[in-house]
Parts: sequence; structure tokens; C-alpha cells
Amino acid sequence: MSMAREVGKYHQTVKLRNGVLHLFANAEVLASLDRKVYKMADNNLRIPRNHFMSYTPDAHVSSGACVGTTAVWKMSDGFVSPSIVGSDIGCGIRVHLTPLHKRDLQDKKVRRKLIKRIEKYVPTKRIASPFRNIELERVVKEGIYGLPAEYLPERGDVSAVRSVTHLEHARFAYDMAALEILPERIWKQTGRELGTLGGGNHFIEIQHVRVDEGQRKIAEKWGLFDGQVVVMIHSGSRAWGRMLRSEYTNRIKDAMEMWGIGTRDPRLIYVPIHAEEGRWYLNLMYSALNYAVANRHMIAFGVRAAFQEVFGTDLEMPVLYDLMHNYALEETHRGQSMLVHRKGTTRALPAGHELNPEPYRATGHPALIPGSMGTASYIMVGAKSGEKNFYSICHGAGRIYARDAVREHVSVDAFAHSMNVGTEEEVVVNRWTLEHILTECPQAYKDVDQIIDSVVGAGLASVVAVCRPMAVVKG
Ligand code: 5GP
Ligand code: MN
Ligand code: MN
Repeated sequence: MSMAREVGKYHQTVKLRNGVLHLFANAEVLASLDRKVYKMADNNLRIPRNHFMSYTPDAHVSSGACVGTTAVWKMSDGFVSPSIVGSDIGCGIRVHLTPLHKRDLQDKKVRRKLIKRIEKYVPTKRIASPFRNIELERVVKEGIYGLPAEYLPERGDVSAVRSVTHLEHARFAYDMAALEILPERIWKQTGRELGTLGGGNHFIEIQHVRVDEGQRKIAEKWGLFDGQVVVMIHSGSRAWGRMLRSEYTNRIKDAMEMWGIGTRDPRLIYVPIHAEEGRWYLNLMYSALNYAVANRHMIAFGVRAAFQEVFGTDLEMPVLYDLMHNYALEETHRGQSMLVHRKGTTRALPAGHELNPEPYRATGHPALIPGSMGTASYIMVGAKSGEKNFYSICHGAGRIYARDAVREHVSVDAFAHSMNVGTEEEVVVNRWTLEHILTECPQAYKDVDQIIDSVVGAGLASVVAVCRPMAVVKG
């Protein structure tokens, strides 16, 4: 590997054997990157006709391609790679506002009670969805539009309500014939999970807000204020996305073998966008994006019910925004139609950009960046100079330790300390002991402040508000 060349503050290019990798990181993050991420990028660059590839500072090794990858091909002759979308298709973050102040949750008992209520309305793992009247088929075909009207908190024209207008996407239109060749068992086995959180690092977190002075005007326009309680939700396409995986992986592997293409990493699968398999995968992916956004909406529906049980039925909890970090989207950049893969990166469009949903056209949309359950999370807004990274920014802090390695490096005591256990400020969790969620402790992740410094320094986005955790429900 040749040396990184600096092209701007916190923006390097690295010439690898098979192409060029852009890196957005400050010196400290850059020095800490595992060399394996370069190998992985080099292998990804073996996919022909790549137009652009980059890492955000939260980059770390994952199956076939790194989390933190933005990879772009032209729609006209490019490729789509399910490995550079990621396995939890449509995984993303949503934030809901409340009118509450952190004072209202100062008493630890109130935070405990809230968490209990959230667990009552939002099943975490393999418990069936409480929303039996939702039709899976309508949801994968129509996203939020496929939900019965009773689950929209607003009444009136569906296309005009906030639950639909303040999202990256409420519904993807696609060729639904793609669903016809799916085996019946997929429909049977995935039908009862809507509105459930899922395990791993999926979470519902109650946070309080501190507005950044530099962006107070935007924060006010978005409805954010100092001390405000907000709820951050992280979840994806649950069993629907997971079960599609074996279907498309098998079919694409067969096609790659037939065409005699591939790299030395069998987990990196890819196919021309315009091959039948490519179009089919994209259509399945859209179905999972529809599922994921509807799933986060239904989780929020349960969270709202929990808050109303504690604070009264007139408490409103409007969505601030919902966006994804595992997907590939067709976008126009500099007049050209491109397929932009974002695997563990998230979009941050600047003010005025036409891809912003209408309510956020003037300011740019909120870009929602989780940190960890013991550190800050961020609400940001994209910058015009983010164009150099196709308006992608980090989607989180990014892991340092793989799940199975955390135990070797972090003690339960250190974890408890970072959660202020035993003090009035304790971040309350939905578990009796922290032992069971040690794999998700703050120490397992990079320092989110360094990641944010990298993104801001590189001119990709700026901070609108910092959110600190008060209570968290883990799946
Ligand atoms: P991923 O989508 O790659 O699985 O994770 C997204 C990001 O969520 C991680 O990089 C990490 O920074 C963040 N994260 C993981 N667990 C938590 C949590 O409990 N609370 C918050 N606020 N962030 C978390
Ligand atoms: Mn996920
Ligand atoms: Mn995720």
C-alpha cells in the first residue's frame, strides 16, 4: 500500500493496487485504523468500473466490505453489491421529539417506569408483534402507506402527515414481481415481527438535548431546545431482511460462478445492475427498506403509547427524522445517474439540495448519529462541501472490538462506571445486570467525539445538537 495523500483537512486519498480509496478522518482516527480495512477496500475495488469509494472515520471490518463504506457505480454500466449494502438492509435511526424537559425524568424511578412501559408496548426479541392486523405483504410493498390508518397518530391526507413527510423515505416503488419467486416460508416466518426491536445493538434510547450555539437557528426551526427529552430508535428489517439474504446470496453466487467472476473473498458478492439478478436484488432490497421504515414507525408507535401512559394522553411525540445506513440508492450527482451504496454510512444533505424532503429543503435534513449508551449521540446537518463524499457521513462511532472480543478487554465494573451506575445520573437500562449487554458497552466503540471531529473537520457536516443518554432499552 502506498502512503495516504492529503487532499484537504481530514481528507486523504490512498492509492491501492486496484484503485483509489478516499478517507475522511483526523490524524488520531487515521492512525488507529486497522490495516485490514485497506485490504478490504482494495478487494472491493476489484469490482469493475467503480466510480468512487470511501471510508468514513467509523470504518471497521465487516463481512465482504467494511462498515463505513460509500461506494458508487454509474447506473448505466455499473454493479450492485449486496455485501456493500450490508445484511440488515434498511437498518437506520429515527428520532422523536417530546415536549418534556430532562427535569421531568430527573427521578430515576420515573426513568425505570418509562422503560418498563416501553417494554410492554415494544417487544424486544422473539416475542410476536402486538399489531396483528398489519399485513406483511402491504408493508413490504408500500412501506408506511401499507399500515392501517389507526397507526398514524395524525388524521387526514396520508401523504401530508408528518409521519410521512419527515422521513428519508416513506415508501419505495419497485417491480413487485420480484417477490413472486420467494418461497412461501419467508412470508410465513417473518409475518409477526413488525414493531419489534431485535437484538444486538438495536436500541430505544431516551436522551436529553444540548443545542450547539453555532446552529441554534436551525435547531429552533427543527423544534429542538436545551434540556429537551428526545427518543432515538435504531432498528432494521428484522427477519424479512435476514431471510431474503440466503435467497439473493445463493442466486448471485450461482450467477457469479456461471460468469466466472469473483474475488478472493467469497463473502464479497456483486452483479451488474442491469443483469436480471441485479435488478431482482435491488427490488428485494427496496422491499426490505419499506419493511424497515414501517418497523421503526411501529416501534415509535409503541414508545409513544408508553410515554402517554406515564405523562398523559395528550403528550405529542412528532418524528424529527428517519434515515437509513444500509442501502443502495439511485441518485443524481453532477447530472449523472449513480447507484450510491452506503454500508454503515448515512446521508447528510445540505440546505437547498433537491433530495431533501420538502419540510427540510431550506435547512437540510437532520442527520442522526448514535454514539453509545454511555456517551453522546449527535444530530447534525450536511454541508455543501459534503459533495466530495456523495453526502455520506459516519453512521455511528463504529466498533473497536468485535462482539466476541469485548469481554477480554472491558470489565463489567468499567462498563458500570461509564453508565454512572449508583448515582442519580445513572443511565437506566432494561436489564438486571450489565453483564448481558457488555458487548454493547461504550468501551466497545470508538470515541464518538473523535469521529464527529473528523466529519466536521472534513467539511462533511456540522453539529446541531448533542444528545446525552438517560435510559436505554436494548433488544
Ligand atoms: P450498526 O448500525 O453498525 O450496528 O451500529 C450503529 C452505531 O450505533 C454504532 O456504531 C454505535 O456507535 C451506535 N450504538 C450502538 N449501541 C448504542 C446504544 O445503545 N446507544 C447509542 N446511542 N448508540 C449506540
Ligand atoms: Mn441493524
Ligand atoms: Mn444499524
